[in-house]
Amino acid sequence: MTTSPQTVPQPTVTQSRRVERQLRGQPTSDGAGVRLTRLLAQPLQRRLDPFLMLDAFGSDAASDYIGGFPDHPHRGFETVTLMLEGRMRHRDSVGNVGLLEPGSVQWMTAGRGIIHSEMPEQQQGRMAGYQLWVNLAAKDKLCPPAYRDIEPQQVPVLELAGGVRVRVIAGSSHGVDGAVQRPTTEPLLLDITLPPGSSFEQPIPNGHNAFLHLRSGAVVVGAPASPETDRVEAGQMAILTTEPAADGVVFCVATDAPGPAQVLLVAGRPLNEPIAQYGPFVMNSQAEIQQAVVDFQRGELAR
Ligand code: FE
Repeated sequence: MTTSPQTVPQPTVTQSRRVERQLRGQPTSDGAGVRLTRLLAQPLQRRLDPFLMLDAFGSDAASDYIGGFPDHPHRGFETVTLMLEGRMRHRDSVGNVGLLEPGSVQWMTAGRGIIHSEMPEQQQGRMAGYQLWVNLAAKDKLCPPAYRDIEPQQVPVLELAGGVRVRVIAGSSHGVDGAVQRPTTEPLLLDITLPPGSSFEQPIPNGHNAFLHLRSGAVVVGAPASPETDRVEAGQMAILTTEPAADGVVFCVATDAPGPAQVLLVAGRPLNEPIAQYGPFVMNSQAEIQQAVVDFQRGELAR
């Protein structure tokens, strides 16, 4: 599906969520030495249920990404890769092959098991993007694996007042359905660019957990007229509050920001189920984790 840019009236959020906590994440490496910033890790899985992990990667140095992510397994959740710059090749045990290019999204449901690789398809230049892990409900953890490559032109784009541009990756915004809809966790995934002087508002259902990450610029979260607002700078992830009176989030570009703000906004419905993780396996109990390890060792995980 392709949706051409359009202008629609913004819905009203009467009370914005606020920033509960900000963090910069932990520099680390994963795969075969890919350097990244882990913004969401195990200590936040309960607070940000159904989201299990968020990594941001971005480097001009090939040595930071050239090792890629050789063959590795997953079970029990979904991985969402947002490519912003650079090219990565995906291959998996189901037989899927895909090329992730700038602006594309890969939505992979590991379900009962998949083995895949994600390798850079470039020797130099910049590579940047995100990987988000979305949990599956207990009833869905052993579902058949699925994989979807979403090309840049398949991601609906919203053009709002003030030149605000929203790529609606999952969920819906301002009446436009995103490229992906998922039951149960109902993830909202928006990549938003705000020019100086502009603002954006997004209704978020009560009880859903939400956070944002700022790639560039600076924003102020909270109704612009309210004396109580919170400033978020580039590189920061902000966990949004969950007070029942708040019906969404409002943010605007900080008045002293020199350029546009680039914001990834994520929200979803918590599963409220036990979380047991061992590396690339996320289940509900240690017994299920042990079964995943045994299945992998026997070569039966992705069969
Ligand atoms: Fe992976």
